[in-house]
Amino acid sequence: MNFDLTDEQDQLRDAVRALGRRYGHGYFVAKAKAGEHTTELWGEAGRLGYLGVNIPTEYGGGGGGITELAIVCEELAAAGCPLLLLVVSPAIVATVIAKHGTIEQRERFLPGMADGTLKVVFAITEPEAGSNFHRLGTVARRDGDDWLLTGRKCYISGVDEADYVLVVARTEDAATGKLKPALFVVPTDAAGLTASKLDMEIVSPENQFLLYLDDVRLPADALVGESLDAGLPALFAGLNPERITVAAMGAGTGRYAIEKASDYTASRKVWGGRSIGTHQGVSHPLAHAAVQVELARLMIHKAAALYDAGRDLEAGVAGNMAKYASGEAAALAVDTAVQALGGAGMTTEYGVATLLGAARAGRIAPVSREMILNFVAQHVLGQDKSY
Ligand SMILES: Cc1cc2nc3c(=O)[nH]c(=O)nc-3n(C[C@H](O)[C@H](O)[C@H](O)COP(=O)(O)OP(=O)(O)OC[C@H]3O[C@@H](n4cnc5c(N)ncnc54)[C@H](O)[C@@H]3O)c2cc1C
Repeated sequence: MNFDLTDEQDQLRDAVRALGRRYGHGYFVAKAKAGEHTTELWGEAGRLGYLGVNIPTEYGGGGGGITELAIVCEELAAAGCPLLLLVVSPAIVATVIAKHGTIEQRERFLPGMADGTLKVVFAITEPEAGSNFHRLGTVARRDGDDWLLTGRKCYISGVDEADYVLVVARTEDAATGKLKPALFVVPTDAAGLTASKLDMEIVSPENQFLLYLDDVRLPADALVGESLDAGLPALFAGLNPERITVAAMGAGTGRYAIEKASDYTASRKVWGGRSIGTHQGVSHPLAHAAVQVELARLMIHKAAALYDAGRDLEAGVAGNMAKYASGEAAALAVDTAVQALGGAGMTTEYGVATLLGAARAGRIAPVSREMILNFVAQHVLGQDKSY
């Protein structure tokens, strides 16, 4: 058993940490409040190769795995810059295209995703289906060689800054049977596609959107893979990377909050010469949160290692557990940090309450804590499905 990163992974961690700290949470919040994107940080991370660490080298990436991408996600978040689009573009979409796209699709999309010049977001969630993906109602119909897509998606992150959106649809002839998903790469400026920004209570430069697809006409090569049979494995290919990288982002956010709070409580004195951190009522909740974050990090490393070793089923269990643990730990850490800072915790200046919304969302998205508990109950504990 080895808990150490390789030298290359260590160097990656240090380099990403340095980049993240150069920008910092102040930059992230200023961008969010100005309604702007983290274009400079994203661009620099892309040029330095951090966005493409998991993309095969023949397509301009670093040839690493999800372990490396999780390091990037965690370190940027630990510097106060939790970039959700890392989870969407390089983790989900690049994995799906690299593993299940045609050669033409790999050549067309991966190099730009590797250097960050091309962003592709991901749309599966629908208003009516919610957590029940078997009810997906976005339908793809054949029209000659073309496809026509119709349906609605919600909470889709980053549509305003993306070139394409990878849309999960179902084929019409399978509408009454089991889900036969088909994935399509749709240009965000396609005729018939409209996006409407959702007002979210999350301080983030990345936005969520409702998407309306009204007979969006796509050429045959917009379908991911060689045939409709590629749909289900392609969809599943994105799930483990998504869970692991979102968990890494949560762990980084937890680390950021605990570091901020510990610095503050070690120096803040309101009862004579002793810092408030001397009081166990202040330090124990922080220590407890630090333990939870560290436990989540262990599970993230395990899940990433299993995934990179090609052990997908075990990675599925570990990835879900890591995502659950991290979601809980990040929300706890941010809330505990706010409390430890007192009034300062609620100010923008100290940069902790600005993460409350994002950390809380980590218990809901991309898969809710309840759906993970359902998964564990069924697949680990052997219980019957309740729904
Ligand atoms: C910030 C943010 C970004 C997002 N980005 C994207 C994106 O880029 N692309 C995308 O496709 N989606 C995205 N989502 C959507 C996200 O994946 C969904 O919100 C999530 O899957 C939950 O679906 P829902 O909101 O419809 O909740 P619902 O399915 O309506 O569930 C509501 C509540 O009921 C619980 N529940 C439902 N069914 C069960 C059950 N059987 N047992 C126990 N509890 C149950 C859920 O856990 C939840 O707490 C994003 C969401 C957020 C908040």
